[in-house]
Amino acid sequence: MKPAILIVDDEASVREYLSSILADNYEVTTAATGADALDLIRDEVFDLVICDLMIPDMSGLEIMARAREQRPDVDFIVLTAYGSLESAIKAIRLGASDYLLKPFDPEELRVHVQNAVGRRLLRSEYEARTRELHSFVTAISHDLSGHLVSLRGFARRLREHCAELLGEEGRGYLEHIDSSAERMERLMTAITEFAKAGAASGEVEFVDVNELLGQVFESFAEPIQQKDVELKVEPDMPVIVAEWIDAYRIFHNLVGNALKYARDDVKPRVEVGVEENPQHHQFYVRDNGIGIPREDLERIFEMFGRGSGHAVPGTGLGLAIVRRILARVGGRIWVESEEQEGATFHFTFPKLEPRPEQLAASAREEQDR
Ligand code: ADP
Repeated sequence: MKPAILIVDDEASVREYLSSILADNYEVTTAATGADALDLIRDEVFDLVICDLMIPDMSGLEIMARAREQRPDVDFIVLTAYGSLESAIKAIRLGASDYLLKPFDPEELRVHVQNAVGRRLLRSEYEARTRELHSFVTAISHDLSGHLVSLRGFARRLREHCAELLGEEGRGYLEHIDSSAERMERLMTAITEFAKAGAASGEVEFVDVNELLGQVFESFAEPIQQKDVELKVEPDMPVIVAEWIDAYRIFHNLVGNALKYARDDVKPRVEVGVEENPQHHQFYVRDNGIGIPREDLERIFEMFGRGSGHAVPGTGLGLAIVRRILARVGGRIWVESEEQEGATFHFTFPKLEPRPEQLAASAREEQDR
């Protein structure tokens, strides 16, 4: 089945021109007004909407916003004249996949459309796989949790009822069983988190990073107090648009590592801040801990990638989870470190990740101006 494309333009000649270029490879439908376009988007599924930004009854941005209220994953390429490049860029910031400046030649149109449809296909494959991985991991971890509970339960009963019989050696073995079960439980939690990290789980909201860090530090109150850690947060932390749980997991993992990999011989210090970057929010989490040997710098972000040369217990999944979340939302992470010289983790987070309700609000503002 050919991918379905909706062309929205008030000029009949443009609709015909675009249709004639695309008709061989796509199922093309056309609409002359925003109202018609929205009716069609409500009733049918399109792989792509190609929409002029200047439609008399409704701006292209509003069409995009309203369309997304009905179908959040609908993709748009916006068309605009050279003089209004700014609105095209605004459309991209508001979630359009791409833009084309008029006049464009047929080949240019074909390439842009092919890319947008290709990206959509990749995205839906990725989402399907993520869902599959998630349900697989959930099922397995549910089963394993049951076995673990009974394993620990019987170990407890043995300790309570047969302590004399077991003697010191036997009680030592029981402790091994307990701590293995505990490690396994941590591993299962981390694997479930990893599977979850690949999929968006809820709505984005405005997240005040300063407030979020307060919650993260609160969750580590015990080690912070025990190790007498000096905490420093830059005063100008931004408010970001994110799923709260994503932002929390990222900072929780990075701050947790900064505390976990502290040195014994210096007062631990953890600093969080934001760096100048026009396109993204760029944060850093810096510590003065044990640092990371050069040969480990890449693989620590991989699944089960653990650093060599230290005996700190862990699963090797924390940074893989962070990287997976960032890959999904369009950010990235990297580290600068020298052995025994501390580590600075930098990551970028998109400045705006709009969803339908924000799009609608922005488009209305635009219309009112
Ligand atoms: P885990 O901490 O469970 O091993 P992570 O994925 O969070 O898993 O980290 C992977 C590895 O990266 C760790 O084993 C450690 O060697 C190294 N690492 C992570 N954060 C730091 C840090 N702040 N300082 C030193 N080493 C770190």
